[in-house]
Amino acid sequence: MNIVETQNLKKFFQSKKGTVKAVNDVSLEVIKGETLGIVGESGCGKTTLGRTILKLIKPTSGKIYFDEKPLFDLKLNPTKAKGMLEDDGIDPKLRKSFKMNKYELSTNARVSKTDPNSWRIDDDGATYLVKGEENSLKVYSVMDITDIDEKEMRKHRKKMNIVFQDPVSALNPQMTVYDHLNRPLVIHKMVSSEDEKLRKMVDILNTMGLKAEHLIRYPHELSGGQKQRVCIARALCLEPDFLVLDEPTSALDVSVQSKILKLLDRAKEKFDVSYMFISHNINLVRAISDRLGVMYLGKVVEIGETSDVFQDPKHPYTQALFRSVPQPDPDKKVEDPLSGQVPSPVDPPEGCSFADRCPDKMGICERKDPDFREAYGRRVACHLYKKKKS
Ligand code: SF4
Repeated sequence: MNIVETQNLKKFFQSKKGTVKAVNDVSLEVIKGETLGIVGESGCGKTTLGRTILKLIKPTSGKIYFDEKPLFDLKLNPTKAKGMLEDDGIDPKLRKSFKMNKYELSTNARVSKTDPNSWRIDDDGATYLVKGEENSLKVYSVMDITDIDEKEMRKHRKKMNIVFQDPVSALNPQMTVYDHLNRPLVIHKMVSSEDEKLRKMVDILNTMGLKAEHLIRYPHELSGGQKQRVCIARALCLEPDFLVLDEPTSALDVSVQSKILKLLDRAKEKFDVSYMFISHNINLVRAISDRLGVMYLGKVVEIGETSDVFQDPKHPYTQALFRSVPQPDPDKKVEDPLSGQVPSPVDPPEGCSFADRCPDKMGICERKDPDFREAYGRRVACHLYKKKKS
């Protein structure tokens, strides 16, 4: 099940030079309990993607779903049911199947196909996802947070949070650690007494390798690693289901980075939270992620199990990106660094945006932008791999 899912998500900005396509048609999911790593060169849209998913910036188009929950299996022949779902209206048999499971669809309910094997039913504020799984069709409820306003979004904020790159600017120098944790706990009414609040604060600080005595410290009395641990503790004290970690260790020493990764892993288990870990540091992402998404010029070009993607990267950009990772051995040369320039996100090329740098470029690549296709147990956006017929 997914805690977050995006479908064809776009975030464009207007600049003097034209439209900057920072996030361009991204469809991905974060599965409950996992860490999804997002890697790519600077400026590829990783941070904008994280912020758009959290609605810190308004998406241009596409969909953002949050907190998928299973409802029931459609008791219909899967092939026939798929045919029914192809229509915009609701087939009476489909309506009956929902009713049998105590979910009544109104006359306003509309179906739309979201990918070859899944459909969305929008019905007066309720959203259902119907997904083909093995030999059955399962129905899920999900929150469509794409267009809800800030007031409504505030109710979900504590469930979806972010840790920013720079802990120095994320903390108020005039506030103690206690103040930083107190504020969200009080605003979101997370505790009913001062005792409970203190217990909660200390528990979260301990999980992040800090002690009760740190509560009275000001940011200038903490090391860089301790500051970032306070930022993570502040995000965790709201008991989120989903955290975006945006380059959370890039401002820290290498020795501190691995400690923070271990603490993040511990916190994930303890608080049952799912992460999107954004970084340009491939080795860090490899160490913490269950699955990995590789971004290039606003698009996710490959997504799959981290071990599979590292063992055998399929997209030519992923292959080049991994080859360009500096080796710890000074005598070992970087095999084949990425050459050429990333095209401008203003007015990106019509076909594959990696075509100018790709050693495997074919005729079709400059004409047609490749969409996702299943290949070797993952999704890859590249014409080298054949699309399965739906
Ligand atoms: Fe290279 Fe073509 Fe694949 Fe793009 S679609 S990565 S240009 S082979």
